[in-house]
Amino acid sequence: MSRAALSVASECVPLVKTGGLADVVGALPAAMKAQGWALRTLLPGYSTVMAALDRTTEVWHAAELFGGPARLLAARAAGLDLLVLDAPHLYDRDGTIYLTPTGFDWPDNPERFAALSMVAAEIAGGALPDWRPEVVHVHDWQAALTPTYMKARSIDVPVLLTVHNIAFHGLAPSGRLEALHLQRIRFNSEELEFYSQISALKAGLVDADAVSTVSPTYARELMTPRFGMGLEGVIASRAADLRGILNGIDTGVWSPETDDAIAPYSAPSGKAPNREMLLAEFGIEPGPGPLCIVVSRLTGQKGLDLLLDAAPRLLAMGGMIALLGTGEKGLEGGWRDLGERSPAVGVHIGYDEGMSHRMFAGADAVLVPSRFEPCGLTQMYGLRYGTVPLVARTGGLADTVIDANEAALRAGVATGVLVEPDDAQALGAGLERLVALYAQPKLWQRMQRNGMAHPVGWEIAAAEYAAVYAGLAS
Ligand code: ADP
Repeated sequence: MSRAALSVASECVPLVKTGGLADVVGALPAAMKAQGWALRTLLPGYSTVMAALDRTTEVWHAAELFGGPARLLAARAAGLDLLVLDAPHLYDRDGTIYLTPTGFDWPDNPERFAALSMVAAEIAGGALPDWRPEVVHVHDWQAALTPTYMKARSIDVPVLLTVHNIAFHGLAPSGRLEALHLQRIRFNSEELEFYSQISALKAGLVDADAVSTVSPTYARELMTPRFGMGLEGVIASRAADLRGILNGIDTGVWSPETDDAIAPYSAPSGKAPNREMLLAEFGIEPGPGPLCIVVSRLTGQKGLDLLLDAAPRLLAMGGMIALLGTGEKGLEGGWRDLGERSPAVGVHIGYDEGMSHRMFAGADAVLVPSRFEPCGLTQMYGLRYGTVPLVARTGGLADTVIDANEAALRAGVATGVLVEPDDAQALGAGLERLVALYAQPKLWQRMQRNGMAHPVGWEIAAAEYAAVYAGLAS
């Protein structure tokens, strides 16, 4: 018999996604099922999510939840056992799930996600007639008030908080304490307060029974001022309860042998037709060097400004770049310009899953020069597709790629190239190393094959989460 857990998040593949959080939340239930845990996933009922559900059953309702009526619907979709919080006053909107149509945070984001956390606490407290979780697993700031609301009501089901990205704190002005149903007595620098504001993430870090993040290196980095974003002290105070569990990728969706978006292959040589198609699709003039891709949000975190600086070195050596991404206007403009100036660079500004599959199949290398990266998924897609990753030595990037240094090359275990983060010079030197490796076909193919054989599925992570759940529930 499976044990019951509730997973609470603001995004979940395939229903709603802005980043890697959604991939993880969507993949976790199937992975945990194999470990004897049945997860129900609680999500906000955004209009897109509501439209994707066909048969639903109302399992709970409230006349008033943060300014309007709400009900909880049980539904199944894409193999997921869902609980969807239908509260149109909070979630039925144009724009994106976090931003207005003009690109600003929704002013009531604190309330919108406090509502999600409040309902998670209700469920943990026994609000559903026939189901109660043994463990509650909450993800990022949007769900992080769950253990705080539970504590206020003495609901003692254990809570695991997973930090997918500490850059997002879920801040609200202190004047919103009452509106958020938070206790004024807890508004102090040891608990909910972060420099005079309320921080949902900090509350979760203080109140959760255990904390995890998505790679061992990021777990260590989070305790330092450089990466902790002001929360390093709180994280360090939870060191005994903190684990870094490396994400997996969904190999049902991301496997070159079975991917129906590409010409499938099971060995590096099978990439050739995909490479031809990719060059044509991006209108890139073929050169003698590696065809490199970037699939990313275009934000400061991802270091793609550094890559703009270093790109001329790659292009001078006959390398090529295809970039797919969307985000900050300055970066979009910078990459568009480079694409227009250079026949060896193709740029698509936008979000396109199918195109991203074709890119991983056709490219020689994937570039991930992030300034920080809690885990990162695209370097793992690269490994799986024989697309050699060049990554910054930070967070999960450092935990998933084996640098082609002399020792690794001699042992025949290298899978990619690591460079120091936040350093355009180092990135340029790394690109030179990449080109030199590409020019040695035997070495390169060995790296490709090593990558394709590297374990990137969910099995290891699921076993680690299961151990944490079991420890919490005992
Ligand atoms: P983050 O969560 O910080 O954005 P991750 O590497 O953890 O970074 O996850 C990003 C996910 O979003 C990956 O699945 C990646 O392929 C996908 N992605 C990012 N940008 C795009 C895009 N423009 N088009 C298609 N997929 C994208």
